[in-house]
Amino acid sequence: MEYKRITSKGGVNIPVKLRRSMGIEPRDAIELDVNDRNELVIRAYQARCIYCGSEEIHLKKNGKGVCRACADQLVDEYVKQKRKELA
Ligand SMILES: [Zn+2]
Repeated sequence: MEYKRITSKGGVNIPVKLRRSMGIEPRDAIELDVNDRNELVIRAYQARCIYCGSEEIHLKKNGKGVCRACADQLVDEYVKQKRKELA
């Protein structure tokens, strides 16, 4: 167990040993959460579908991801709309 003090700006330095074991490096995005035991949880950032929150990203554009199910739904809606326009 490592002991750290929170900086005056609210920051905490994550020791290199922990960063390496988590596969994160300086300037990487991370996710912070508090679990039901009031513990701070730090995770490597995981891109999620912007529509449903799934971690299974199928398409990425401008740093945002969409899962296959939502991508299929979008395509279906787009095709329906286009067919109406062309009818
Ligand atoms: Zn989705």
